[in-house]
Parts: sequence; C-alpha cells; structure tokens
Amino acid sequence: MDLFEKCKTFYDDPAGGQRYGYPITPRAAQAAGVFPYFIPIEHAEGTEVFIHGKKYIMIGSNNYVGLTNHPKVKEAAIEAVKKFGTSCTGSRFLNGTLDLHIELEERLAKYVGMEAALVFSTGFQVNLGTIPAIMDKDDIIITDKEVHASIIDGVRMAKVLKSVQIRTYKHNDPADLEAILKSLPAEPAKLVIVDGVFSMGGDIAKLPELIPICRKYGARFMSDDAHAIGVLGGGRGTGWHFGLQKDVDLVMGTFSKSLASVGGFIAGPKEAVHFIQMFARPFMFSASLPPSNVATVLACLDVLEKEPERVERVNQIAARVRSELRGMGYNIGRTETPIIPIIIGDMMDALNAWKILFEAGIYTNVALPPSVPDQMSLLRTSYMATHTDEQVDRVLGVFKKVKDLVHVRG
Ligand code: PMP
Repeated sequence: MDLFEKCKTFYDDPAGGQRYGYPITPRAAQAAGVFPYFIPIEHAEGTEVFIHGKKYIMIGSNNYVGLTNHPKVKEAAIEAVKKFGTSCTGSRFLNGTLDLHIELEERLAKYVGMEAALVFSTGFQVNLGTIPAIMDKDDIIITDKEVHASIIDGVRMAKVLKSVQIRTYKHNDPADLEAILKSLPAEPAKLVIVDGVFSMGGDIAKLPELIPICRKYGARFMSDDAHAIGVLGGGRGTGWHFGLQKDVDLVMGTFSKSLASVGGFIAGPKEAVHFIQMFARPFMFSASLPPSNVATVLACLDVLEKEPERVERVNQIAARVRSELRGMGYNIGRTETPIIPIIIGDMMDALNAWKILFEAGIYTNVALPPSVPDQMSLLRTSYMATHTDEQVDRVLGVFKKVKDLVHVRG
C-alpha cells in the first residue's frame, strides 16, 4: 500500500484502525469525544489547567514536587537566557558544552551519590544512547518486561549495533530473573535494567531482592529513576529509598518530571560515565541541553535541598489517594507512589472513563496497549506536592460519584 494511503486508512477507515490494534479510528474517537490525546492546554498553573476556557484539576502530569511554577525556578531559567541566549546550537562534543552543564553534572552526581554524571538532551536519549554504548558484542541485557519504551528501544539499538542478546523477566519477579541468569553462560557481560518506579503501574522495583541476584551472577544493575527522583529516598531515587544507593551500578534520571525541565542524565562510576560520553551516539550527534533548561534543573535541586517537605507532601497525598481509591473499590494495582493507575482493562471502557472524568473537570491520562499490556488499559493519575487538600477532596469526590459509571476490572 502507498505510504500515505496507509496513513489515511488508519485515520478514517475502521479496518485501518483495527490493523493497528485500535477498536476505533482517531476520526471516530474525536467525533465521539473520546480522543484524549494532543488536547491543547491554554494556560497552566501547575495544579490547574485551562482548556477551551474551562478549568480542570491536573492529575495527569509528572510535576511531582510542583516545581514548574516555582518563582526561583522560573527566575533561574530567565537569567540563563539573559546570560547564554536560548540555545547552544551544537553538540556537547563541540560548541555545546557550557560551564553550566559541568556544574549540573557535578551537582547531579552528588545528589544521587555517584562519582560522575552526564547530561543528555532528553531522558529518552539517555537510554537510547547509554545502553548500546556500554554493551559489547554478544553481551546480554536482561530487563523487566514492563520497562519504559526508551529502555526497550535502547536495548533494540544495542542489538542492531552490538548484536547483544536480549532476555526479559516477568514483571518485578526476582525468582524469574534468577532463573534466567542461572541459565546463561558465565562469560558474556550482563546488564539488568529496571524502572525504579514503573511509569504506568507506579510500583517500585524490588531492589533488595534484585541486586543480590545480580551480584551472585556477576550482572551489573541499572535503575531508570525517571519517576523516582523527587519522589523516593528523600528525592534522591530508588537506591536511597532502600538504603542501597551504593549497590546500584548505573542510575538514569530525567529532568522532564520532578526537575521541571527537559533532558536527562546517566550517573555511575567515573570511567563508565566517561566511556558513555565518548560512545553514546544520541549524546554525540544531537545539540546539547539549552541553558535555560540546565539552569532550571540546578534551581530545582536547590529547592529540593531547602524544601524537603515537598517530597513528603507528595507522598502523603499519594498515600491518602491510594487508600481512598482502594476503599471505593477501584483497582489501582500495586502502586506505592504518586503514580496511581485506575486499571480498567478494555480500551473503549478506558476511553469512556476518561471522558466521564474530563467532563467532571478532572484531567487524567489514558494508557492503552502497547504502553500497557493487553487488556490492561488504564487511566494514569498522578499527584503533586502543590495540590491543595481541597483539590484532592474534589478529585476524590468525583471518583466516588463516577465509580459505577467507570467500568472497573476485578
Ligand atoms: N524513562 C521513563 C521510565 C520514563 O517514564 C520516561 C518518560 N516518560 C523516560 C525514560 C524518557 O524521559 P524524557 O521525557 O526525559 O525523554
């Protein structure tokens, strides 16, 4: 089929939609008001957003500690533009390294308790670049089955570039990881990768069980702390949450969530970070992180160090919401964090549930396969330190009211 004909069919023709696993075409979903994507927000004040002039409570962001509108953070971004302009217009290798990038790398390394850190222009690029860079021919990567797409694509890239072998273990199942490691030959280098906090389920990787297994079989352990920074371990990540920060070999983090910016980093031993710096292609062949984004993250680290109560607050809110939603009978899976999924199951049911909440003034996200396993479509809700008690009351009140309309998977 012609390339563009295929695109048109996907948009318009039910058979085209079904070919990609969707029960409804984008056009039909838009007409029925159940297309929850690309909705333009006109004005955002963190916990509240405005769409077509109507106010919504935002429970669909990753702004966990509520720093995107913090005065000091905004001021730092503005000052950086004044001093350095809006872009570096080049790779970190060439004209794109500012003293600000180095300052941030040193701060981040200290913050997560590693020797060194390296800043990339997005979190996605961290995984896409680090994984193939650090692996060698015929090495083996073992990931949890539910890791983020950027890890999946980093692993695929390692297969293309380095012919690595790939294994996956059952979600958060240390016994399955052990069975796999046991079956593998001793010689190839091995890397085990998890989401420290799983991005859709909000559950925490079982580091106290996983890390000793890695040690036993000589595998290195990498945690993607995209959703753990600012949330777990006083904000410093999953390793700190378990008191195991010295046992994590590589930590990945993003700036696009708690750190109120865009970009990401990898942290670990000095030599490993240097090696990644010399060989990660998305680091090499992409322009460096703009100064305002770097300065934003530095300011966020200042705020997190001065206002640790923000981390406590988001976790308190999350504990309350988890407990009340469970009490109402919602299936929220195994979450232990401010990512609280409402597991619906069927795709159309999830889209309809989203619409009911949206009409009630609550902004959530819908996750459909392949972002989640089949028949696990869900509403991804997430909370901020800056949500007021009244806003949380209001959200819970709506959830209570719509419970019987929102089909819940048992
Ligand atoms: N890892 C995880 C677990 C994520 O959830 C995300 C973003 N959703 C990323 C990596 C990529 O981060 P970024 O948005 O900085 O590209």
